[in-house]
Amino acid sequence: METTMTAAILPDSMGHFGQFGGMFVPETLMTPLQDLTKAYEEAKADPAFQKELDDLLKNYVGRPTPLYFAERWTEKLGGAKIYLKREDLLHTGAHKINNAMGQILLAKRLGKTRIIAETGAGQHGVATATVCARFGMECVVYMGKVDMERQALNVARMRLMGAEVRAVTAGQATLKEAVNEAMRDWVASVENTHYIIGSALGSHPFPMIVRDFQRVIGLEAREQILEREGRLPDLLIACVGGGSNAIGMFHPFLNDDSVRMMGVEAGGHGIFPEQHAARFQGGKLGVLQGTKTWLLANDDGQIELTHSVSAGLDYAAIGPEHAYLQDSARVEYTYATDEEALAAFKELAHTEGIIPALESSHAMAYVSKVAGSLPKTDIIIANLSGRGDKDVEQAVKFLLPDIPLG
Ligand SMILES: *Cc1c(COP(=O)(O)O)cnc(C)c1O
Repeated sequence: METTMTAAILPDSMGHFGQFGGMFVPETLMTPLQDLTKAYEEAKADPAFQKELDDLLKNYVGRPTPLYFAERWTEKLGGAKIYLKREDLLHTGAHKINNAMGQILLAKRLGKTRIIAETGAGQHGVATATVCARFGMECVVYMGKVDMERQALNVARMRLMGAEVRAVTAGQATLKEAVNEAMRDWVASVENTHYIIGSALGSHPFPMIVRDFQRVIGLEAREQILEREGRLPDLLIACVGGGSNAIGMFHPFLNDDSVRMMGVEAGGHGIFPEQHAARFQGGKLGVLQGTKTWLLANDDGQIELTHSVSAGLDYAAIGPEHAYLQDSARVEYTYATDEEALAAFKELAHTEGIIPALESSHAMAYVSKVAGSLPKTDIIIANLSGRGDKDVEQAVKFLLPDIPLG
């Protein structure tokens, strides 16, 4: 069987996916990033590294995740067969731990003793705090002050596991500022510190490393569907924030021409300025936080505010490999609005007894939109990137306004 980290052709040695990606970082980070690239290439070729990672993924993280046939939802929508890749069942409740676990093993290999991370909703912060506790490493998580207030439970989880959560008060005090602060820390501390980036974003080699650690999603799904159905799926669907769960699912199928792929961005209140986070809907080509990609900016090049009901999709830039896959028309991209995501959140809960994360609900909204129009012989695999427990309070406000929360 193909292992979780099989080499891919892209990016090139400077991190380019076609015209996208690259290394737009301060001079002081060039050497550390090159060292990281080299160490990663060596780790990838080392069977002992792969073995340790596979063992932890199996016994600590909870892999493989099931590929579940959503029978009732399929019947209800009346078209293509719907399978869900259950990343929501992983330890800490989302796919982010696949990457956090891979990267902490890399940090250990590099002899680093301290980990930093940024987090928006807190999901990546929790995954990072978790693996730091597991390996006894010092952990500092940068988080916007506004996000800390909105995601108090995740802040408590991180602190409980021994992480220091540092409030960032600059600018909008959300994810973008938290990334800036983490970068600033890293420039000063790179000697003993590894920066675990949470999505397929930032300077090379991060988009590649994060993708490779998330490829396990697609590799498992491929094997599971071949076993269940004896053939490849017709359509893959995943939500796209920075793009890590989507690229992890899509990447092992890129050479299978019969497999269509759809990435679903956050349409927020609709495609109006500052009301969404759908970078392919009127975004611009630019550079943000280390990489060249599509982003939401005004005519002066200032990064625009974004909005989504799901904090994990609420970011102005998209991972550079998605920019490349969109440009080359290998993957299609659409969006779901807040309202459509909330409707799908409820529909999946009612129909299958599964409460999806609001991020994942964007992918589910597209399933809901498209499945009925496809033949019954078609097969869809949708990535259920995380569980929705964290979102229940927020969703209930919209969906069940009359039910008191206690
Ligand atoms: C963070 C998050 C996302 C978005 O991040 P990607 O890097 O685009 O995958 C999606 N789903 C869940 C459950 C998340 O926590």
